[in-house]
Amino acid sequence: MTRIFRIQLIALLIGVMASTAHAKISTLIIEGQNNHGVWPKTSKMMKSYLEETGLFTVDIVRTIARGTDPDFKPEFKKYDLVVSNYNGSPWPEETKKAFVEYVNSGGGFVVVHAANNSFAGWKEYNEIIGLGGWGGRTEKSGPYIYIKDDKLVRDESPGRGGNHGSQHPFVVTVRNSKHPITKGMPGQWLHVKDELYDLLRGPAENMKVLATAYASKEFGGQGRHEPMIFTVDYGEGRVFHTPMGHGDYSQECVGFIASFQRGAEWAATGKVTQKIPSDFPTADDISQRKYEEK
Ligand code: ZN
Repeated sequence: MTRIFRIQLIALLIGVMASTAHAKISTLIIEGQNNHGVWPKTSKMMKSYLEETGLFTVDIVRTIARGTDPDFKPEFKKYDLVVSNYNGSPWPEETKKAFVEYVNSGGGFVVVHAANNSFAGWKEYNEIIGLGGWGGRTEKSGPYIYIKDDKLVRDESPGRGGNHGSQHPFVVTVRNSKHPITKGMPGQWLHVKDELYDLLRGPAENMKVLATAYASKEFGGQGRHEPMIFTVDYGEGRVFHTPMGHGDYSQECVGFIASFQRGAEWAATGKVTQKIPSDFPTADDISQRKYEEK
């Protein structure tokens, strides 16, 4: 090997390594309106959960506090991933259109907790999130989805969409351990105190339920196994949806953190390269990481 060739080769390798190191998943978290007063903190928590993996760079965009924000026009296409922590007024028409185009053409999207309460009347948003709650949702929004006798039920019966009983820790049961998001998780794990959403309904097309939780009547649920981790394919885009994450304490659950980190990576890339953390909860014990604001 000549000296010059060797130098060129080394330069090339350094270039490849540098470009690999910089190929992070560019992410946008949307916030600004939410009936959960903790939202500025939960957005920061989610930003920090993504950044600590070393895989993501994260921007946060905030709408005005009330009503449709006429200036809310993020460049979705600049990002690999959009995370919604937003439950509020409709977005401007051109923003809605740009968002649907973004997901349809392969953009990743993550829906957490009350973000699925948003936009009951926006057809495409509901197709993207699969299931939603409140906001006047009814049988016109789509079926209830739950698991009964190990089978997915699409229940068309009439009624409102969205309910939760009193908060409590609950067991999450993995229903698909082959999917990259849930692969390696224990079959059952105990989630930190949270609202357990039930009666969610929506188009639920191209949806895979990866994990459920039993919403017992004792705590105000329907006595059914409700979707807790699921995915939706929309056009070329991948969507990760979890109705978990009501409180900052709920989002301190290592099960929530790891599901969110893995779901976000999968939504952006179709793969998960992260390991299941060693402090992941078990069927009997919760595992909580106290969040320290930076
Ligand atoms: Zn809530």
